[in-house]
Amino acid sequence: MHNKKNKIAFDAVIRASELCQQVQSEMVLTDAIQKNDRSPVTVADFGSQALICKAISDAFPDDIIVAEENAQALKKNPQLLERVTEYVQRFVPKKTENINKFLSEKVCDWIDLGSSDIGDSFWTLDPIDGTKGFLRQDQYAIALAWIVKGEVQLGVLGCPNLPYQYDNNPESKRGCIFVAVKGEGTSIYTLKGKYIRDAKVTNKSSRLAESYESTHGDSNTHIKIANQLGLNEPPLQIDSQAKYGVVARGEASLYIRLPNPAYPDYRECIWDHAAGLLVVEEAGGKVTDAKGDPLNFLSGRRMKDNHGVVATNGTLHKKVLSIISTI
Ligand code: AMP
Ligand code: MG
Repeated sequence: MHNKKNKIAFDAVIRASELCQQVQSEMVLTDAIQKNDRSPVTVADFGSQALICKAISDAFPDDIIVAEENAQALKKNPQLLERVTEYVQRFVPKKTENINKFLSEKVCDWIDLGSSDIGDSFWTLDPIDGTKGFLRQDQYAIALAWIVKGEVQLGVLGCPNLPYQYDNNPESKRGCIFVAVKGEGTSIYTLKGKYIRDAKVTNKSSRLAESYESTHGDSNTHIKIANQLGLNEPPLQIDSQAKYGVVARGEASLYIRLPNPAYPDYRECIWDHAAGLLVVEEAGGKVTDAKGDPLNFLSGRRMKDNHGVVATNGTLHKKVLSIISTI
């Protein structure tokens, strides 16, 4: 990895993936709380955000970061903050950080580095995408993207529980990091950073991928569309942007995310799609919203002008949009 931004992002996602795995295997009940919108957040979400924001800010002090979490709830919950600090400390070398006494304050500061507004160029981070999957010991992703003038230049997706191949074999090796660089393709690495192979979409007819959480989409309609395309296998229901990973690897032909009819005003967050978009596009696929418009990463933390998301192997894209337009 030649480019400094790519290397810093890759190394930071590797460390955050390790932190998430440690939390997942040692987790206690009080390590998860509910946010105001009633979605869960855990010690691992905060720890991952602290590590990644610190790494970016150490290397590029002027870079803007737009991340999902902030430290407000942590500051009011000393027990949770202590747990987050305990994990972050495992990854911050003591010699270079002579700040142990104040580490918990530093942890909050690092997390809040992610509270910036969107700029001409910026990072966007979901420290744990699919926290519900993380809590189920299932799929989740650490998603980091670098965006310049609205175009994603770099997408790094750490998927600690994703099998090397989605083949239902419990013995399959697990843990993949997807790295997509604009104009250079998408590569897959182990969680230790060893190159495995490049990702390429498939033009063979494969499955549909959709959210595991039925409230996050419109599964009935997704399946109708898949049937019209002749994709009759049961869909892959996976949490997080790991869905973009399976499309990029050719294990699914498409990922559809139409708004759930119960939440027509829901707007997608930029950190839930920026890294995944480049992972699919650099593997030869295409990503737009459900009307065929490009995802607009400059309209705010949420993509207020976009409606749903469609990611395909490219070949199917027009057909999918045309079926959606008739629904
Ligand atoms: P996934 O596992 O792909 O469903 O993605 C998880 C993400 O879904 C979370 O990070 C939330 O930002 C997002 N989410 C939460 N509620 C909704 C909703 N009603 N519709 C679509 N996405 C949602
Ligand atoms: Mg998320």
